Amino acid sequence: MKPVIALVGRPNVGKSTLFNQLTKSRDALVADLPGLTRDRKYGDACIENKSFIVIDTGGIGESDLGIDAPMAEQSQQAIMEADIVLFLVDARAGLMPADVQIADQLRMRGKPIHLIVNKIDGLQEEVGMAEFHRLGLGETHAIAASHGRGVTLMMERILAEFPEDEPFEEDPEGGIRIAIIGRPNVGKSTLVNRLLGEERVVVYDMPGTTRDSIYIPFERQGQRYTLIDTAGVRRRGRVDETVEKFSVIKTLQAVKDANVVVMVMDAHESIVDQDLNLLGFVLETGRALVIAINKWDGMTEYEKLTLRNAMQHRFDFIPYVKIHLISAKFGTAVGDLYPSIQRAYESAMIRVPTNRLTTLLEDAVQQHQPPLVGGRRIKLRYCHMGGHNPPLFIIHGNQTESVPAVYKRYLENIFRKILKLSGTPVRIEFKTSE
Ligand code: GDP
Ligand code: GDP
Repeated sequence: MKPVIALVGRPNVGKSTLFNQLTKSRDALVADLPGLTRDRKYGDACIENKSFIVIDTGGIGESDLGIDAPMAEQSQQAIMEADIVLFLVDARAGLMPADVQIADQLRMRGKPIHLIVNKIDGLQEEVGMAEFHRLGLGETHAIAASHGRGVTLMMERILAEFPEDEPFEEDPEGGIRIAIIGRPNVGKSTLVNRLLGEERVVVYDMPGTTRDSIYIPFERQGQRYTLIDTAGVRRRGRVDETVEKFSVIKTLQAVKDANVVVMVMDAHESIVDQDLNLLGFVLETGRALVIAINKWDGMTEYEKLTLRNAMQHRFDFIPYVKIHLISAKFGTAVGDLYPSIQRAYESAMIRVPTNRLTTLLEDAVQQHQPPLVGGRRIKLRYCHMGGHNPPLFIIHGNQTESVPAVYKRYLENIFRKILKLSGTPVRIEFKTSE
């Protein structure tokens, strides 16, 4: 499982800046699920082939920082969820009373802490760090988050004991890993039970549960699957409520660990920001996706028609994603999810030989030439695969840095169409080799 890292510290020490540095362009998932404070941000990051999840507690207001409450409730929550805490201080401001209070609180939590002295730019490192040694907190790093200085080195040291990400196996023993995600009450648990309760489904012994989601291996019509249950169906009633609160982290982990994500939404509720936010995260992560609009039962024909139209409009930016209208409660159309999951999986894991891809590229170029740049035509020579889940196509040529976005999209659509890719994002990378 990916480590979870919380950023804490006074306002203005640079937590959000570091968060953005670590997560780069990636979408942050803002926790506004019930039971979670709006101000906690979750992001997905990767340094030197090690993925981790970052939580930013950037929203702490000054008012939260009274003498008795140096850390707001949400920071406490973030620390509880984290494996490692990065405690940021400001080298320019120097040691502040609130830093001392936060340090005292952190020590009581017993989590591994790293002291991060930020804004070291323009200062002598040793001088900038000196006064913070008084805090007596383990390992100390000096960085300039806004310049990215020292950040990679710091993360390498922090993540030293964690393993590198493993490449996706082509035929994992547990079969296709499916994550069932969605906001609370959309019907995830009902769907998990329905999928497992179906005829001809054989559920195997569950392996050890993690603090995160539960992995349930099963077999259906000769195909093995592992369901990643973020709703905690099999755990309900046995564990207290606090487990349910961790759903954002569970969701992030499950998405990263899945081959195919089934995102569940409620037909009776309009699509809210949180849904789109979650969807954005899944797409950014590159996972194959199937959408299930649940609670389709009991709707009038008129309601169904209206909904169909609204959805077509809403999801027109992902035309390659299959949308299913289901009723988990009554089992309607639930079985239809499997063929879509299967296709999405096969698309995500597709292997295509270099000569086939190169022919495909040549045909595409012949139909529609890339533009001239500075009087010279961009040349695209050959194409090979660079990865799976999602499929990555690497195209070699010259002046490839000038390929316009619209041409890249054109190629993506051709690849998608000819290779019959469904349900998965596709990535294209260009390499110049003169
Ligand atoms: P947060 O409240 O802890 O999330 O702090 P922010 O990330 O919003 O940063 C507060 C201010 O510090 C912003 O104006 C940042 O541009 C600035 N800042 C962040 N990191 C650095 C740094 O490494 N060097 C300098 N000089 N300024 C920084
Ligand atoms: P979760 O929080 O996403 O796991 O949602 P649950 O599976 O616990 O379902 C939340 C509520 O929606 C429960 O009262 C379910 O009975 C109800 N529900 C789930 N699926 C359906 C459905 O297909 N139709 C209807 N009408 N209700 C459903």
